[in-house]
Amino acid sequence: MEDQENAPGRTDFIREIVAGDLASGKHATSVTRFPPEPNGYLHIGHAKSICLNFGLAEENGATGARCHLRFDDTNPAKEESEFVDAIKEDIRWLGFDWGEHLHFASDYFEQLYGWAVHLIREGKAYVDDLGAEEMRQYRGSLTEPGRDSPFRDRDVDENLDLFERMRAGEFADGEKVLRAKIDMAHPNLNLRDPVLYRILHQGHHRTGDRWCIYPSYDFTHGQSDAIEGITHSLCTLEFEHHRPLYEWFVDNLPVPARPRQIEFAKLQLSYTLLSKRRLVQMVEEGYVDGWDDPRMATLSGFRRRGYPPAAIRELCRSVGVTKFNSLTDIALLEHAVREELNRSAPRRMAVLDPVKLVITNWPGAGHVEAMRAVNNPEDPDAGKREVPLAGEVYIERGDFMEDPPKKYYRLSPGAEVRLRYSYCVRCDEVVRDGEGEVAELRCTYDPETLGKNPEGRKVRGAIHWVPAHAALEAEVRLYDRSFTVEEPAAGDWRETWNPDALQVLGGCKLEPALGGEPAGARFQFERNGYFCVDSRDSTPDRPVFNRTVALRDSWSKKQGR
Ligand code: ATP
Ligand code: MG
Repeated sequence: MEDQENAPGRTDFIREIVAGDLASGKHATSVTRFPPEPNGYLHIGHAKSICLNFGLAEENGATGARCHLRFDDTNPAKEESEFVDAIKEDIRWLGFDWGEHLHFASDYFEQLYGWAVHLIREGKAYVDDLGAEEMRQYRGSLTEPGRDSPFRDRDVDENLDLFERMRAGEFADGEKVLRAKIDMAHPNLNLRDPVLYRILHQGHHRTGDRWCIYPSYDFTHGQSDAIEGITHSLCTLEFEHHRPLYEWFVDNLPVPARPRQIEFAKLQLSYTLLSKRRLVQMVEEGYVDGWDDPRMATLSGFRRRGYPPAAIRELCRSVGVTKFNSLTDIALLEHAVREELNRSAPRRMAVLDPVKLVITNWPGAGHVEAMRAVNNPEDPDAGKREVPLAGEVYIERGDFMEDPPKKYYRLSPGAEVRLRYSYCVRCDEVVRDGEGEVAELRCTYDPETLGKNPEGRKVRGAIHWVPAHAALEAEVRLYDRSFTVEEPAAGDWRETWNPDALQVLGGCKLEPALGGEPAGARFQFERNGYFCVDSRDSTPDRPVFNRTVALRDSWSKKQGR
């Protein structure tokens, strides 16, 4: 992993192009845009595009650079305003702001219609009656040229009339389309008379019933860029073969500017599927509990899981921007999350699998002492807090062993261990329940060991604990990777879904300082990992915490890597 201190000087081929255009005077400033389709929630792949587009605006801020948020809302069948709101929230959460530049492709429908009419008048577009299947047959293939549609030579007046009637709602869905007249034999299939408009009698989340014809993505995107004065239109590699078409529209229409499309590689993460289509299936088929389920690789899922936005930005920075597709190890993201939380998360004590420890020589049932615990060793200003200690505490079941191996530094019969920030205790007796499970550990404490080691004895281990008399009871949800293989296949993703990606623990014990924490608050539970208050299900009476990430990379160890 690269050094974070390198951050400012970092560049890539897109930043170099932009810097070159500013230096040469081609552009006085840079204008970029992030263009989500509001048909789902944003995922971690989108974060890469957001960090690039909004990052350029920040970095070139001195020249007045800006980044627009433009919803690419040309397909009413799958789009909803719920998604618009969620997308805005996620971008803000990542730390970016579009200011006044919130736009919708649907704002340009009238202008786009006008430009379609312009192409018809110039003899560069026609209304076609071929059905979808016939159109496919006429289109040819990579090795065979396409054939002209029998409707290709309609004259301008007929085309104008038919297109107007398409808009007026005279035809049914799919009955006609408007196509550009380019070249049915072009080696690039995208230039074989691409569809500009299709008929869809469907209400739109913003334009309501005003339109029953909708422009295609290709006919919308570059022109929207031009309307907004976008200088650099950044998209992912699969649009490389659309670039000639993007340029054809810009060349053949009286658009007010000439934006340049540049493609870069998508972010792909191991153990993760990012396609929105698959994410929709996970939600709709009940694999997860909504778009913000912490098992989802959506920004809202990561937020609910406790990933800090700074860690996501750091991931995007560290993978960089290139033209080559590659798989990014999810461990890199987890590393960034740990680094960030190690710096910022207050430490607390929580026992996930409790067993009771009774201090038999404690001065009395009502006797309580305040232990002073360090809030964050990485942050000298974080100070200390008090944790009350009385005669009974909870410790982790896993911190006791009846027959320990050598070098076991936790609790075992006759051995001594320190209760973190507190006294040393020695285990004298193990009480078992009817099933033979350890029910209680009876110990004595040494009152001389607060803040210092007992004379002449070496106590090696320190274990976390929670006072029984003041413990809060909580549910804790442990998360693991959502898929069992590094590169889940998109098609049969269900077969590699990890059914153990969520494990719910009831009856966990929290130290009292964890009471009443707000949704989303993040902590390190000492020795257990990083956790946050669940934003949906946690209540003051019944706290619910999500494990964000374990302290160390237990997965790689399990896999023997
Ligand atoms: P998906 O393939 O998940 O459905 P999409 O590209 O269809 O995503 P859009 O809403 O159209 O989703 O994407 C908005 C922007 O985010 C586009 O500019 C797109 O190129 C970019 N983007 C989408 N996925 C990634 C990714 N994995 N890495 C980088 N950028 C991405
Ligand atoms: Mg898309």
